[in-house]
Amino acid sequence: MFPEGHRLAPRTRLEGDTPMGIMEQVTMTDSLRGRTTPLHMDADAFRRAGHRLVDDLADLWDTIGERPVAPGKTLDEIREAMGSQAGLPEEGMDPEALLAETTRLLIDNSTFNGHPRFFGYITAGPAPIGVLGDFLASGINPNVGGWSLSPGASEIELQAIRWISELVGFPTSGRGILTSGGQVANMLGFWAARAAIADWPVAERGMAGEGSLPLRVYTSAGTHHWLRKVVDLAGLGTDSVRWIPTDARHRMDIRVLRSRIEEDVAAGARPFFVVGTAGSVGTGAVDQLPEIRSLCDEFGMWMHVDGAYGAFAAAASSAPDDLRALSSADSVALDPHKWLYAPLEAGCTLVRDPEALPRAFSYNPDYFHMSSEVTNFYEHGIQNSRGFRALKVWLSLRQAGRQGFRQMLDDDIELARRFHGIAAEHEELEAFTQGLSITTYRYVPRDLRARVGEAEVETYLSALNEAVLGRLEREGRAFVSNAVLGERYLLRMCIVNFRTGQEDIEALAEISAEAGRAVDAELRPGPLR
Ligand SMILES: *Cc1c(COP(=O)(O)O)cnc(C)c1O
Repeated sequence: MFPEGHRLAPRTRLEGDTPMGIMEQVTMTDSLRGRTTPLHMDADAFRRAGHRLVDDLADLWDTIGERPVAPGKTLDEIREAMGSQAGLPEEGMDPEALLAETTRLLIDNSTFNGHPRFFGYITAGPAPIGVLGDFLASGINPNVGGWSLSPGASEIELQAIRWISELVGFPTSGRGILTSGGQVANMLGFWAARAAIADWPVAERGMAGEGSLPLRVYTSAGTHHWLRKVVDLAGLGTDSVRWIPTDARHRMDIRVLRSRIEEDVAAGARPFFVVGTAGSVGTGAVDQLPEIRSLCDEFGMWMHVDGAYGAFAAAASSAPDDLRALSSADSVALDPHKWLYAPLEAGCTLVRDPEALPRAFSYNPDYFHMSSEVTNFYEHGIQNSRGFRALKVWLSLRQAGRQGFRQMLDDDIELARRFHGIAAEHEELEAFTQGLSITTYRYVPRDLRARVGEAEVETYLSALNEAVLGRLEREGRAFVSNAVLGERYLLRMCIVNFRTGQEDIEALAEISAEAGRAVDAELRPGPLR
């Protein structure tokens, strides 16, 4: 990014040049003077193409609920429609036609997480102001790796991080950074912990340096796969992770956690990193964060909270107290592209100790000329050049304010709770867990209701619901994903969606039951008829 001497060099002067002389040498054929390039768009063309794009997106959002959630096409059909097998074009084309064509192709071949009946995974639709923010951000194009390349943008990122801290109740005396997403945000928490806790110079000597102890990591069995990746990348190896079983409420079992830590200490290892989950992916479960804090204090460990899904719910009035205790963590990972409804990509790491990130990430190559008075984000994370992803987050925090976000979070949670009630009442649905804005449920044919729990019936119900999920995706009327609890394959709906309303959760119950009936008619084995 910032090598010195990369400033635009003055144009080399030719022998005998005078300002007049240069003028005279220019002929009509000197295409490098007043150069136009194949990427040029004149102001009018840019305006026309941009206005049309804005119109197309406004129309899309206006009618999105009437469209299929997913295109329901096969791989071959998508490739065919997108022309994605064609080679690199030798020659260019008109940018306005190109943009219009691409807009249409993407509208026809996308899964819409902004659809009011999108309930899959944990994926939010983009807030319109965030979409415009991304447009503005790339128009200005600051490199938010170094302050001098992005003065205004760097300050907006710092402010966005402080506002996120205020929103979830994390101390604003800490620091943070925006990342590509929750996975990387979690990984930064891990590296900050490793740099802070290892008693030997781990950056220089590595994991097996003199005086090193085998580091041990603790997390609940349901933790997202980011942890495996980071311990592998950091050279600890996945065997260093202690997967702690969960209790009846899908929370990390604190008594087992304590005994695993004690065993590791007795064996000469160094317990150093505990991940508390603030909203698990499968069921929205929240670990007992206050108890985790106490254990971390007792054993000198770093407390990290994976709040990629649930941390923002700490701002909701219905937030459980255990969730609010994320304020006591050493680091927290959050995901503005989930429950702050930011367009992809935007994750965020918060750390309590302002030095924690630079301790892990600050290298100063001699070709960087950076002031230490200001925040240079390349010293706080793994990226060097960085985009202005803070803008979309900052704009939506300003547009909705704390109260606006509290309302949206509360409503999403309330709708997921109501869906649990609807599924529990429904004659062909069975409701399971309800945590934050995630509800699990399944389709059960009326005549098998009385036999739920029998091994043969359970096996069939799992296969049936897996097929229901596939059918829902093909039909495109609603999009859900799944959870596996015990041996049971369940449907799982999650609302991080400011477009979803009561009518959509009522529709989801009926759509699920209809798909269930249709699949059951095709799939039921003879002995269960
Ligand atoms: C989504 C999620 C992640 C990963 O975040 P990405 O934004 O997909 O990188 C990690 N942990 C939890 C709990 C999540 O919900």
